[in-house]
Amino acid sequence: MKRVGVIGGGQLAWMMGDAAKKLGVELVVQTPSSDDPAVAIAQDAILANVDDALSTEILAKRTDIITFENEFVNLDALSLIQDQGFCFRPRLEALTPLLDKYDQRSYLQNLGLPVPQFFALSQPKNLSSQIEQLGFPLVLKSRRHGYDGQGTFIIEDLASLQQKLNLHSIDVASSQAQFLIEEFVPFERELAIIAARSVEGEVVTYPVVETQQEQQVCRRVIAPADLTPNQVAEIEAIAHTLLNSLEVVGVFGIELFLTKAGKILINEIAPRTHNSGHFSIDACETSQFEQHLRAVCGLPLANPALHCASAVMVNLLGYEISTSHYHSQRQKLAAIPQAFVHWYGKTESRPGRKLGHVTVLSDDQSRDTMITIAHTIESIWYPS
Ligand code: ADP
Repeated sequence: MKRVGVIGGGQLAWMMGDAAKKLGVELVVQTPSSDDPAVAIAQDAILANVDDALSTEILAKRTDIITFENEFVNLDALSLIQDQGFCFRPRLEALTPLLDKYDQRSYLQNLGLPVPQFFALSQPKNLSSQIEQLGFPLVLKSRRHGYDGQGTFIIEDLASLQQKLNLHSIDVASSQAQFLIEEFVPFERELAIIAARSVEGEVVTYPVVETQQEQQVCRRVIAPADLTPNQVAEIEAIAHTLLNSLEVVGVFGIELFLTKAGKILINEIAPRTHNSGHFSIDACETSQFEQHLRAVCGLPLANPALHCASAVMVNLLGYEISTSHYHSQRQKLAAIPQAFVHWYGKTESRPGRKLGHVTVLSDDQSRDTMITIAHTIESIWYPS
């Protein structure tokens, strides 16, 4: 039996629970609060922030392998632990170019992969000439620690850009150093792919999905996305190039834009399991969580294919501050044919917080049918 240490104890680690049981793997999580979802399914927990490397050293001593459900770690401090011979999967070098969004874009561009135009805001002066090539709207992003659209701002004009930078720091120069600017992509759809790579270097990919964001937060995922075979092949090739180049061991999520002209651009890499892959728990032969554990434990990868024609996953986002468990809404959702409700057991609801998700399987591949099902779920979940 292997013991896997997981840095982070949110819903992504919680969803490893069933897969860990199936594979006979024990999980130990490092997470700040005993109320965090994965504490309930872990054999053991170290209550500490994810960037507390001293606690990760304790985690390393108690486990065979360390992996990540959260990438907001202190890589320099962790590398001292890796240097002592402890095993991180993916290895830290695979995360190094990814944690800063500017470094990530540069890495992808150097690999020849398609990314939106971007640049770092370097000099505090001449802001307008620096952004001249892009025009407005443009997108301002925090280089680190962005999630669920926190740290991503769509900027309509120069005055708003200046205001945003000033808000973030009294020192304009250091504020600018924390941001990246990129072109606004007027995408036709957003897409994502989950890919896994084993210790032996085998890569498998899940079906490409369509993701739908509102206010920069993922609301729905439709699997598979309605794409041409060439588009699917291009996205799969991106996943192979990236995972092989980084020599990843484990699961990564890749978010993409599909432009109106049919061009594919990479938006972001998540060096871990990802919200766009939750459908795989109920709709695929092997979930992304089992696949991740298989990869990091050195097991052969398993079949990622859908076992139904299509599926839709809808996030249940908090819409109020409450400690309710929403039993009656969850019962109604579970009554939808072929629906699987996943409730993360968070003790407090807040607007925008991911409290759970529902996946509905279908024998029909129509996008309209999936969107109708998603709207039914949302009409049950959100108060009208
Ligand atoms: P986070 O890391 O917080 O998830 P992202 O960079 O993925 O932030 O952005 C969140 C969402 O914001 C995206 O899913 C997309 O809807 C929108 N977005 C991000 N970058 C761009 C862009 N360059 N052009 C248009 N929309 C964007």
